[in-house]
Amino acid sequence: MRVIPIKIGSILRDDERILDARSSVTLIDTGEKRIIVDTGHQGDRGVIVDSLSARGLTPEDIDVVVNTHLHLDHCGCNLIFSEAVFYAHQGENPPIHFRRADEGTEVASGVSIMHTPGHTAGSISVIARTGSSVYAIVGDAIPTIENYETMSPPRINIDERLALESMKRIIDTASHIIPGHGAPFETTL
Ligand SMILES: [Zn+2]
Repeated sequence: MRVIPIKIGSILRDDERILDARSSVTLIDTGEKRIIVDTGHQGDRGVIVDSLSARGLTPEDIDVVVNTHLHLDHCGCNLIFSEAVFYAHQGENPPIHFRRADEGTEVASGVSIMHTPGHTAGSISVIARTGSSVYAIVGDAIPTIENYETMSPPRINIDERLALESMKRIIDTASHIIPGHGAPFETTL
């Protein structure tokens, strides 16, 4: 199993205001299935296609797409993955063709869902186990490494305490975290 950042997410702020937000896009290749976690902003299409192409892949090669939640900066390029089955949590009110991603749902062998609410009610993280490493692709349950370092919940949240509980659960589980809007990092807490 390989976990490959296809695009590192970003966020641009002007004091409190968010000017531009684009999610991380991550490829998990289990050898059997190819999974994309979050599909970025709709303007990221070219970058995603180029990044896949550099690895000998096209969007049609992707079997599964998981959206950590359905804010537009995390599902903007869903439509390019025309052959994939889609997963999201029911709490996000996904379109009818989506499959349910609940706590413990296995989307592929060694790749499972953790329900990590707080940013939104239906926020999920994808847990991929390979060797002694446990990767967590967490969306906005942990938007950036700063949230992790200061143990601050995402600024946009439906419940601060719930968001913090989800962060702790992720940190207890994962050795490597891919945040919603920044580069991957290893946990040391
Ligand atoms: Zn969000």
